[in-house]
Amino acid sequence: MDRQISNLVITGFSGTGKSLVAKAAARRLRWGFLDTDDEIIRQAGKPIAEVFRDEGEERFRELERETIKSACQRRQTVIAIGGGAIVDSRNHELLARTGLIICLEARPETIYERLFREAACGSGTEVRPLLAGEKPLERIRELKASRQSHYARADWTIHTDRLTIDEVAQEVVRAWRLFGTSDFTDNTGNDTPTGEGAPGLIAGHEMAKQSHDQRRARLPRSARNDMRKADRRDSDKDIACVVQTATQRYPVFVGYALLDKLGEKMKHAGLSGTATIISDENVFSLYGSKVEGILRDAGFGVNFFVVWPGEETKSVDSTIKIYDFLVEHRTERDDTIVALGGGVVGDLAGFAAATFLRGIRWVQVPTTLVAMVDASIGGKVGVNHPAAKNLIGAFYQPNVVLADAQTLTTLPRRELTSGWAEVIKHGLILDKEYFEFLESNVTRLTKLEPECLTRAIARSAVIKAQVVSQDEKEREGKRTILNYGHTIAHGMEAATRYKRFLHGEAVAIGMMGAAKLSQRLGLLPSAGVERQQALLHRFGLPTSLKTKRSNLKVSVTGITEVMELDKKVKGKAIRWVLLEDIGKAVIRNDVPQQDVLAVLRELVEP
Ligand code: NAD
Ligand code: ZN
Repeated sequence: MDRQISNLVITGFSGTGKSLVAKAAARRLRWGFLDTDDEIIRQAGKPIAEVFRDEGEERFRELERETIKSACQRRQTVIAIGGGAIVDSRNHELLARTGLIICLEARPETIYERLFREAACGSGTEVRPLLAGEKPLERIRELKASRQSHYARADWTIHTDRLTIDEVAQEVVRAWRLFGTSDFTDNTGNDTPTGEGAPGLIAGHEMAKQSHDQRRARLPRSARNDMRKADRRDSDKDIACVVQTATQRYPVFVGYALLDKLGEKMKHAGLSGTATIISDENVFSLYGSKVEGILRDAGFGVNFFVVWPGEETKSVDSTIKIYDFLVEHRTERDDTIVALGGGVVGDLAGFAAATFLRGIRWVQVPTTLVAMVDASIGGKVGVNHPAAKNLIGAFYQPNVVLADAQTLTTLPRRELTSGWAEVIKHGLILDKEYFEFLESNVTRLTKLEPECLTRAIARSAVIKAQVVSQDEKEREGKRTILNYGHTIAHGMEAATRYKRFLHGEAVAIGMMGAAKLSQRLGLLPSAGVERQQALLHRFGLPTSLKTKRSNLKVSVTGITEVMELDKKVKGKAIRWVLLEDIGKAVIRNDVPQQDVLAVLRELVEP
């Protein structure tokens, strides 16, 4: 699709503040503002509830489509659309042609509270039908879940629960500065067909087709031995790899619509008893009851503990609440914790599992791309301390990892895009062939085409498993290679107090810094830097902080201060992960400071 972006489109469920935010963003940008619901009311000469009542939903949707069509003719307008408009893919397509689509998210509880307040204050034009019936919160939850996969297609998502209207508007403007310019990548375009089904990709279903020798050649010896055992015992085509560390051996399953097999896989791994599902509100409202049913059918007793979504939840406080819950429910050593969610849930639930009764069994069911290809594999678990991220934790391997790629269809686009950074990193540091596979399949991957997606996730899982199998506790430095792009990223994240970038966004920019540094030191030819940049760009990731209108106030000094502090704390020089070639990383601790500064300036200054 050819996209000429010159508008902003604000979508999201009722009660996420679309109209007020769109108005505030329009003011900030000095743009026009349009609310499609207001337009419909104006044209119909009556409130929307009456259009529904007198002429039916179908007529309303027709009016909505016409309004959207004419709204798309505008330029430099912030368009707020009705909560259900984006469900119609024709509307989505129309809006995406000229607009950057931003979805405002909020938890069902927040939505309920806001709608309730609005109705009580009488500021709403009508008492929303959602509040009228019985169990309104449940109805909100259900309707929102049924629309989630449509909201997930937005270019950018903003979680509004703890933000004021003005703060959300600021975030909207920031998204525009980052992506709304002419260099916005269209990742719905066509890929070159070369490399379709790239040969030699050893992952997922594809792995079953590979010869055993080919498979083993890629894995460390310990994992290879284990693979042999796994082959004999389990001719399972869903298995992506087996992680073998000194303390634990466990399978990583990757597939599409694989959740249905969770109970079966857990039993196969020798788990039984009661499963306590730990999840966050967003994920639980989408998949909680399904997973509960699957586990019950497999004979597990089931409890669930649901936390707030977001990084703040990864805390000692939450861990204590989990302990209280486990004690109250008489959880025993033979019971199991099931972490259902992204990296936040995985790190937190894993930490609780590692420490409760000196360690109980646990299963990772990652539902974000970051968690599938990174956080769920390797057994690093932990929580944040006010002084620093991930300060309190352990190495504690799960018993099973099961990644169902289908769950990514409901993941907000911004989170998804951020996850591609770690996937691309895997190709860059260790596997040129994989990098080429990614180059040839951008559209299939960003469109979440099942087979291609499953293969990529499985391949990344294998790479991560391979590295952690060799260096479980980060003692031998082999895991360092996974830090490609992370030195600068960490500086950027800490300098902006973890509020501005999603991790993958910072990593993408950090990888550009590392590639440029590699080039300056004569390691990587410029063609390599360009190839990396092009691929990040095609996946919709930022590759620099350079934009004339940038309000991303990250200074070179801000970043270097964090890096210097890290160096002081660790008492040694920064270990830079650099590239010699695509697919070949090297570690250097002799990088001159002036080169680092020059590269940072290049990334930051317009
Ligand atoms: P996250 O867990 O916060 O999830 C991102 C958002 O997506 C949340 O709002 C969540 O509710 C929502 N979500 C998750 N799955 C969804 C789905 N399928 N559909 C709809 N919404 C969904 O973020 P993340 O990026 O997965 O993880 C980040 C965390 O992971 C950080 O705390 C980081 O430190 C940690 N991490 C750990 C490791 C490790 O080795 N342990 C590695 C990388 C990152
Ligand atoms: Zn990372």
